[in-house]
Amino acid sequence: MTDQLIGKRVEVLDKGWIELIDLMPHPDSKVGGDLAIVNAARVSFLGESKGPERDKKLLFYLLRHRHTSPFEMVEFKFRVRAPLVTWWQWVRHRTWHMNAQSGRYTPFQESDFYVPDAWRRQSKDNKQASEGTLEAGENDELTRRLLQHYDEGFRLYSQALEQGVSKEMARLFLPGFSVYYTWVTKIDAHNLMHFLRLRMASDAQLEIRVYAEAINEHFFKQALPWTAEAFDKYILKGS
Ligand SMILES: Cc1cc2nc3c(=O)[nH]c(=O)nc-3n(C[C@H](O)[C@H](O)[C@H](O)COP(=O)(O)OP(=O)(O)OC[C@H]3O[C@@H](n4cnc5c(N)ncnc54)[C@H](O)[C@@H]3O)c2cc1C
Repeated sequence: MTDQLIGKRVEVLDKGWIELIDLMPHPDSKVGGDLAIVNAARVSFLGESKGPERDKKLLFYLLRHRHTSPFEMVEFKFRVRAPLVTWWQWVRHRTWHMNAQSGRYTPFQESDFYVPDAWRRQSKDNKQASEGTLEAGENDELTRRLLQHYDEGFRLYSQALEQGVSKEMARLFLPGFSVYYTWVTKIDAHNLMHFLRLRMASDAQLEIRVYAEAINEHFFKQALPWTAEAFDKYILKGS
């Protein structure tokens, strides 16, 4: 299981990715995964596992009744590469612990900018949202203009560095929301479910939704299959 999960990297957007760098308890542990949650709940009466059927039933009961603290006993640590437009929203979730690449320390590369596949139209009934995409011709033209803008920003950035301007100031020339940054992030399973519920929702911006969906699909469901099933049933589908 370790080989499959820890160190696994999933690509997201055009140049981003998510990699699971650690999981607590370790996936090879006999008391890891869903069992860590069940065992934490059973400490209430100093018991432990009672076999898969009763354990799963207890876990579903816990989630259904929002008995949340046992779900904090599992922690995921990711390394994530995402554009600033994604981080801008991600950092609002205060329950993540985070450490970021420093643009004061590491110079940016020419390929560090996000280029969307398609340009989405402004939604008619949600001022924050988008719907549908522009026609192919318009789409290509906007992408051409975006790349031109990136080239110019990067040229001015590089020129400022060559002139001896500090990295912390030269980056003012870069197209802010598009720059890719790498962060190390850590969260427990309870707060991860809260994040996934909000950021996998259809009203979440695509640039963060794809990261939330990737975490759910490729890491959360595999690390905690019973929890993911209960999460889908009671939280996402709300039964
Ligand atoms: C679709 C969408 C649109 C959004 N639009 C905007 C916007 O226009 N402008 C904007 O500013 N934000 C916006 N947000 C961000 C939103 O307001 C929240 O800041 C973000 O979703 C984090 O949610 P949270 O506080 O529940 O999560 P977390 O910070 O992870 O906190 C999880 C839970 O812990 C508790 N908690 C954590 N810290 C505290 C605390 N200090 N005090 C009390 N309780 C705490 C709360 O119960 C909270 O729900 C948007 C979010 C979404 C999903």
